[in-house]
Amino acid sequence: MIYWMLVLVLFIFVTAYLRLALLQWSILLGAILLAFYFFSAASNPVIISLWSFYLVLITVLNFPALRRRLISRYIFCGMKKVMPAISQTEQEALDAGDVWWEAELFSGNPNFDVIRQLPKPMLSQEEQAFLDGPVEAFCKMLDDWKITHKDFDLSARAWKFAKENKLFAMIIPKQYGGLEYSALCHSQMVIKIGSRSGSTGVTVMVPNSLGPGKLLMIYGTQEQKDYYLPRLATGIDIPCFGLTGPDAGSDAGSMPDTGVICKGEYEDQSNIIGIRLNFEKRYITLAPIATILGIAFKLSDPDHLLSDVEERGITLVLIKRETAGIEIGKRHFPANQAFMNGPIRGKDVFIPLDAIIGGVDYIGKGWSMLMECLGDGRAISLPALGTAVGKLSSKYTGAYSRIRSQFNTPIGNFEGVEEVLTKIAGQTYAIDAARLMILSALDAGTVPSVLSGVVKQQTMERMREIVNHSMDIHGGHGICMGPHNFLGRAYQLVPVGITVEGANILTRTMIIFGQGAMRSHPFLLKEVEAVHNTSGEAGLIDFDLALFSHIGFVISNVVRSFWLGISSARFATAPGNRDTRYYYRQIIRMSAAFALLSDVCLAVLGGALKRREKISGRLADILSNLYVCSAVLKHYEDEGEQKDDLPLLRWACEDALFNAQTAMKNIMKNLPTRFIGKLCNFIIFPLTKPYQEPDDNLGQKVAKLILTPSATLDRLSQGIFVSDNKNDATGRISYALDQVLATQDIEHKLREAYKTGQLEKRGHAAYEEAKDRKIISAKEYKLLKQTQLAIRDAIKVDEFSFKNWKIETP
Ligand SMILES: Cc1cc2nc3c(=O)[nH]c(=O)nc-3n(C[C@H](O)[C@H](O)[C@H](O)COP(=O)(O)OP(=O)(O)OC[C@H]3O[C@@H](n4cnc5c(N)ncnc54)[C@H](O)[C@@H]3O)c2cc1C
Repeated sequence: MIYWMLVLVLFIFVTAYLRLALLQWSILLGAILLAFYFFSAASNPVIISLWSFYLVLITVLNFPALRRRLISRYIFCGMKKVMPAISQTEQEALDAGDVWWEAELFSGNPNFDVIRQLPKPMLSQEEQAFLDGPVEAFCKMLDDWKITHKDFDLSARAWKFAKENKLFAMIIPKQYGGLEYSALCHSQMVIKIGSRSGSTGVTVMVPNSLGPGKLLMIYGTQEQKDYYLPRLATGIDIPCFGLTGPDAGSDAGSMPDTGVICKGEYEDQSNIIGIRLNFEKRYITLAPIATILGIAFKLSDPDHLLSDVEERGITLVLIKRETAGIEIGKRHFPANQAFMNGPIRGKDVFIPLDAIIGGVDYIGKGWSMLMECLGDGRAISLPALGTAVGKLSSKYTGAYSRIRSQFNTPIGNFEGVEEVLTKIAGQTYAIDAARLMILSALDAGTVPSVLSGVVKQQTMERMREIVNHSMDIHGGHGICMGPHNFLGRAYQLVPVGITVEGANILTRTMIIFGQGAMRSHPFLLKEVEAVHNTSGEAGLIDFDLALFSHIGFVISNVVRSFWLGISSARFATAPGNRDTRYYYRQIIRMSAAFALLSDVCLAVLGGALKRREKISGRLADILSNLYVCSAVLKHYEDEGEQKDDLPLLRWACEDALFNAQTAMKNIMKNLPTRFIGKLCNFIIFPLTKPYQEPDDNLGQKVAKLILTPSATLDRLSQGIFVSDNKNDATGRISYALDQVLATQDIEHKLREAYKTGQLEKRGHAAYEEAKDRKIISAKEYKLLKQTQLAIRDAIKVDEFSFKNWKIETP
């Protein structure tokens, strides 16, 4: 009998693991029962009971009408009472954009072809020439210190150059005079400019992402496109978009700004139907110099001039700057940056109906229009800026750690510094990969809205970590501001990136899992929609189908999580080679565990999960880290599987898996029912914790990659502006590094001479003595002195006079 019990357990295990359909499962179970009948010694009453049970079970399960009548109907009615309905704004957010790789991660069994078959992101020749030509030239004319400290603006020459070379027209179609470049090219432009001047990076990114241009392209009437797009492409018009205000920041949908349909006068037209607007917006990028303002507000039609409906919902309009009632032109001063940002207010501003983006057909559709556009803008601009900071830090903080010596040793050789250099390099690799993978999707025509939030949140958090470590390594050199300092402004820029386009805390704890589960879970949305949106019997039919598929899904995830846990996913079918297959397998394992844990949290907490943001935030961390891990694998393969980059791949994957594991453990520890948490822990981690933080040996290999020039460092820092001017903030560090590397053999000779007693002094103090004692030649002496000067210049910080803050750096 015991064997038959084992066969039954094995059967349940294998069929659940393989996710067989209900009918296949029923037939196979029947086959086992038949075998039991022929080959076991069981008595007739046992056989009859088993067959009876089997027939009842498969009949109920395989006949939906019966199943609905006996089971689903009751659950359906219960759900109708407790399941919260989806509000209109939530629905619009759910409908925006596409579902992509996140659905695979939610599936518990990801199909890696979805990402592996995406072509490697590549620039066209025209795009490369644009970056190497106008963008490079533009970067050369930027002086970030002057921009952020003296002028608080770009120079007139830079503005003119940017407009003439269509730096604001990346996304505008060629037929309207724009460049119509790829998302990749847009991202590379922000990286290059942002690595030279963060403020300028923000300035160019706004017109190219979330702003009137994008909205016009997708929703504008032909007349609006014909008028505005050529003007935006050539910089005749500078746009801004005002969504948030003093009373509605993160909760922008609750804006108090109003528009009332009424009759009024506009330019030379009188008594026309239009909108009277009253609004107050703040923090609006480019507002102080904008010539056209995109404004979101709530529209009403109290006199029923357009329809019988009074409250028409969030609507978007374009207003010319000079329109009567507009107050514009003051500036905020965000985190010592000089990009234009300020408030806009409108009092009784009357505009015609044709100012509505998309015309009257788009009245009330503003929220979904914004959600749709936010998806790709959020995936491009800020991740590019974060990656620029990572690349800049990897290249120049790595170099600084080599040229700056203390205790007669380059500081990068101290384990303490090495530890944080590792994080700078590893996180840069991770965010570069995260950025590139979503760009591949965007350029292939998919707009993954949940993942755009993931990429924005992850790149900004990791940028914060990178720049904090970088500042620590630079010490006073990073702190003292002035033209010599290339890092301080990047450090100050961090909160801007964290806050805009969906503040990070909100994005992590509320949006990513909240939206992700609804959109990407294979059955959840179907169940909710069936309960609330589909009426009568049709709702029950849809619910029943989704519910039983969902139950099968949960059973399968329990089995898969346990088996993948106990076997360490060793037998899971996964792509990759001997370096990467292990990580692919761990993603499969963690995906099954994530799918299970998501369902457990939803079942245990239900609607309360919306308020339990600590749990929701940790679920978001799991999804985000699995995304990063898969992006890193794709990046490594896209780069041609360079063996020298392997430490970066391993570090980034191990870090991501460890983070996912930490988030899972913390969820299980904090579930309201401790027993369920412990049970999940037993299923998911049956043999203790599988993942550790990357070890010190690996960390050392990673840090070494950015201490000296190499092909790996070139790949890691690819795309940033590289100055060859040795009087420039970053150029002087590169120059000093070249000198240090050219003289390292001579320095070695000096150290050996000191050890053997040939020299009495060490370091710089020994140069003279070494020359006099013929340990080094006159030429070598000259080289050493030259290097000493180059280092002095690279580590120098600016000095200011008491009066007028005039620079007096010696
Ligand atoms: C430099 C800069 C440029 C900007 N440019 C523009 C622009 O061009 N156009 C535009 O319309 N807006 C712009 N903004 C506004 C930006 O979108 C808002 O700052 C952002 O939405 C946050 O709003 P808030 O600053 O009022 O913070 P609040 O909404 O007050 O949020 C404060 C904190 O609370 C957190 N929080 C709020 N609600 C929740 C929640 N439910 N769960 C968890 N945490 C929560 C947030 O994450 C944040 O950390 C800009 C802002 C800045 C600083």
